[in-house]
Amino acid sequence: MEFEKKFINTISKYKLFEKKDKVILALSGGKDSLVIAFLLKKFGYNFTAIHIDLNIGEYSKSSRKICEEFCKENEIHLEIYSFLEQINKLNTDLKGCKKKEIQITGCAMCGVFKKWILNKIAREKGAKVIITGHNLDDEIQTFLMNFFKGSPELSNNTGPKSKNISDKKFIPRVKPLYYRLEKEILEYTKIKKIPALVKKCPRSEDSYRVQIRNFLENRESKEKLNLIKSFEKIYDKKATKKESDLLYCINCGEPSRKKICKFCETFCGLKTNHN
Ligand code: AMP
Ligand code: ZN
Repeated sequence: MEFEKKFINTISKYKLFEKKDKVILALSGGKDSLVIAFLLKKFGYNFTAIHIDLNIGEYSKSSRKICEEFCKENEIHLEIYSFLEQINKLNTDLKGCKKKEIQITGCAMCGVFKKWILNKIAREKGAKVIITGHNLDDEIQTFLMNFFKGSPELSNNTGPKSKNISDKKFIPRVKPLYYRLEKEILEYTKIKKIPALVKKCPRSEDSYRVQIRNFLENRESKEKLNLIKSFEKIYDKKATKKESDLLYCINCGEPSRKKICKFCETFCGLKTNHN
């Protein structure tokens, strides 16, 4: 089948990972990561699915249920990590993390937590990469958001494989659906009867991404593909990525651009002191 061929091709062409490699898949319960789980299982890859229960009411309950049922049915090894449990653990482990009632209030905060915890889990498991379900529509949205903010350099690192940093504590993130349109993925879920959470996260309703998504809604597939190609041309020429200016956070020890990582800033209320 064409879609399956393209999926496998992206993995091999961009050298994302190999069949024998131990990898983890970030499984949200949305269609994209479920499709990846389905395909990795079908083609015999060596992976563990990781679901993060973000404790966002009914939304998190149904996401978790979908992951559990899907993995059981397809005999996929699934591990669930709860946001609350992780935060409570930090209250005892980390300086500054004393807040008891932390809630995720928006996409930025959620993203910081997921990146931090997934990197930690992947490293502890000795995984070679972290697979996420980002598709071409997601990627164009991110590019445009960064452009509209006046910070195109924030997209320097984007691609099917995160370009940055060969560092023993940093686990690269890969996106096998990077070149697949949302439309194609939806078609595949219908053919294969893959269930997916249709609900959107209630805390993301008014985010900037939703506005950009609406703006792109009626664009043709061809235009979307052209957009990603245009971005790639710009970044090929302009990319000025420094190989590694990565530090380790002085509070939690995780890889960070500053002395205090984004996670410790957000969840422990700490700030890098520039003096
Ligand atoms: P999103 O940021 O919600 O568009 O999700 C992008 C990708 O991040 C998904 O395709 C998953 O691979 C991963 N992801 C999002 N939420 C979760 C979650 N709660 N648990 C595990 N992985 C997730
Ligand atoms: Zn930190």
